[in-house]
Amino acid sequence: MTQIYDRVALIGLGLIASSMCHAMRRAGLAGEIVGYARSPETRAIAREIGLCDTICETAAEAAKDADLVVLCVPVGAMAAVAAEIGPVLKPGVTVSDVGSVKRTVIESVGPHIPKGVHFVPAHPLAGTEHSGPRSGFAELFDGRYTILVPTEGSETAAIDRLADLWRGMGALIEQMDAEHHDLVLAVTSHTPHLIAYTMVGVADDLRRVTDSEVIKYSAAGFRDFTRIAASDPVMWRDVFLNNKEATLEILGRFTEELFALQRAIRQGDGDHLHDYFTRTRSIRRGIIEAGQDTDAPDFGRTKAAKT
Ligand code: NAP
Repeated sequence: MTQIYDRVALIGLGLIASSMCHAMRRAGLAGEIVGYARSPETRAIAREIGLCDTICETAAEAAKDADLVVLCVPVGAMAAVAAEIGPVLKPGVTVSDVGSVKRTVIESVGPHIPKGVHFVPAHPLAGTEHSGPRSGFAELFDGRYTILVPTEGSETAAIDRLADLWRGMGALIEQMDAEHHDLVLAVTSHTPHLIAYTMVGVADDLRRVTDSEVIKYSAAGFRDFTRIAASDPVMWRDVFLNNKEATLEILGRFTEELFALQRAIRQGDGDHLHDYFTRTRSIRRGIIEAGQDTDAPDFGRTKAAKT
């Protein structure tokens, strides 16, 4: 694989940035990778584990001579970081981000991007429930989609170059506009996370159960909710605050369907339940056929991992 950028700056050194660092190194996509995280603790860990070639003390120092700057902080923190780095960006460089919401990031970061700098927002649809600089791994993006959401005036050459970087990190590329992105993600990621948080919260409210049975019998579906509900609270708070309309729209539809299922259960309408579950089962098949999950039973967990 050939080098695509001379110097890449990663601002924020959590799961996504550290995975990008490993994936870029795996394929030799960057001449030099510099990084910055706001806390001295995270910077110290990054140095200790050799993440990036240089760890800088400020975001501006990291961004100063970079050809590509990627904002890898929670969505609600993007604007402040952009305001700090904006004045030091060289003309012709690209600024991107990995935020899980796109419209508000474009609205809040865009005004800080100077003329002559290309702003090409992106979102890798890959993650785990872990966070921080130690949680990254080179394979995270392999075979997963990264959605590029070019802004008005994003030059084709800058978009193509960023797409090449993501392809080099193993990703499949799609482009869409911010509104569409936010609606699709509300369906596929944001609302499911909210439902998982709710389900785990409900179980926790039933303290008597949580203390014993919920943990003991967690293999029965609940365990997968708890994995999702262990995701970073700051990141997810920001996702819901910033993808308000789309999430509320999907939650409204979800509630209607839930009421319909509730009625079917009350009325003993087995046909309704059976038809519904048959339709949803085929969606799972579609995801496996698209190569986006394994068809191994229990998500490929080994027997050892279950115990
Ligand atoms: P993470 O592991 O929690 O790391 C977040 C990083 O941002 C840390 O370096 C943290 O610094 C820094 N940070 C947090 N709050 C900040 C603030 N107010 N100002 C400046 N820096 C701040 O997060 P992540 O999972 O990599 O997520 C990063 C971005 O990727 C988010 O926008 C998220 O929406 C998006 N994303 C996440 C996933 C996922 O599954 N995790 C998937 C796709 C996209 P300290 O360590 O110093 O606190």
